[in-house]
Amino acid sequence: MEGRNWRTGVWTEPLTMKEAYWEFEEDTAKQVACAEDLTSAYRFGVYDFLILPDSFPYGGMENCCLTFATPTLLAHDRSLVDVIAHEISHSWFGNSIGCASWSHFWLNEGWTTYLERLIIGKLHGEATRNLSYIIGKVGLLESLKSYEKTPRFQSLIPGYKEHEDPDEAYSQVPYEKGANFLLYLERTVGGLEHFLPYMKDYVKTFTNSSITTEQWREHLFDYFGKQKDSETYLKKLGKVDWDEWLHGVGLGLPVDLTYDDSLSKPCLALAERWDKARGDDDLSQFSKKDVADFSSTQLCVFLDKMGEYKAFRPATVRTLDELYALDKSENAEIKLRFYKIALASGPEYCKSAAKWVETKGRMKFCRPIFRLLNEQDHVLAIKTFSAHADFYHPIARKMIAKDLGVEV
Ligand SMILES: [Zn+2]
Repeated sequence: MEGRNWRTGVWTEPLTMKEAYWEFEEDTAKQVACAEDLTSAYRFGVYDFLILPDSFPYGGMENCCLTFATPTLLAHDRSLVDVIAHEISHSWFGNSIGCASWSHFWLNEGWTTYLERLIIGKLHGEATRNLSYIIGKVGLLESLKSYEKTPRFQSLIPGYKEHEDPDEAYSQVPYEKGANFLLYLERTVGGLEHFLPYMKDYVKTFTNSSITTEQWREHLFDYFGKQKDSETYLKKLGKVDWDEWLHGVGLGLPVDLTYDDSLSKPCLALAERWDKARGDDDLSQFSKKDVADFSSTQLCVFLDKMGEYKAFRPATVRTLDELYALDKSENAEIKLRFYKIALASGPEYCKSAAKWVETKGRMKFCRPIFRLLNEQDHVLAIKTFSAHADFYHPIARKMIAKDLGVEV
């Protein structure tokens, strides 16, 4: 796959090769070239990725030269290539600059998510970059809520105790709180024109080392302290509530960041119409055309909003599905969100969701679906898990069993 003097490759089982090539041929090489422009030259020679079997529990794993990726990226609409942009970004953050311990994991994932979105912004526009933050916020809030009983895991630096399993605190917090913190700092120092040269210097300074948050912060102050307008920069950075960003807990971000909402506005407006019509038997005001101009990502924003409302009536959910072909979608992100809405409304889609999750080993999908299935139809959830337990990766198996309250 070629683009801007870059060649990247995808490895798959023979059956998946054609669709994988189509899915990624447009973007991957351009993404690597773009990441180089933003940071420094790619250090590992080859950039290929390997599509793993359905049981792979993560979206991607950033092995140098060869990213491992989930087959759920094959959405047949090229909408999930941002995961590859994320893995490419790990070539700098994670694989070149590592975190000194899991407590500083946000340095890997926060920076990587930040760079992933810069790449998306360069290639598809600033509004699309902002849309990623809007979508990400939903996952962040879900993660923060899930740690209400262990608030330590809501903070950017969870401070693990000896022998504690970092998988227990694996969530969107280091990704989203981290990326938002960097976005906040970008805005604090005056925007990208000031922040990008700093990012390059950060990469240059720490490549080939593993660092702590304190080292990162010292370098940030050191860098801006050497610039021409150092006093202004340091004054602005001095106003940042460092303690709250790094150690704060609770259900939001320390500062409410605003995002360009031009792409999300129509999605939220449509969701609001459905909410207003929740008691209506006549839903003829809705049609296929409502979502005809939406990208898959916008459809996800719409479904996320629908999922925030109290449960809809089963008949309303059926109409929603019939009009927008949600249960038939080949895009796993869309399916996950639809099942969240459908399973909250009643048992009608339980069988369909259970069937779907039999082949979805990625924890992002199987864990929430099993949890919801368990609430709606405990017997079916346990039956499905017992019949397919061997299919799941040991980490996923352990986490699902824990969620369902059963022994593996
Ligand atoms: Zn990552």
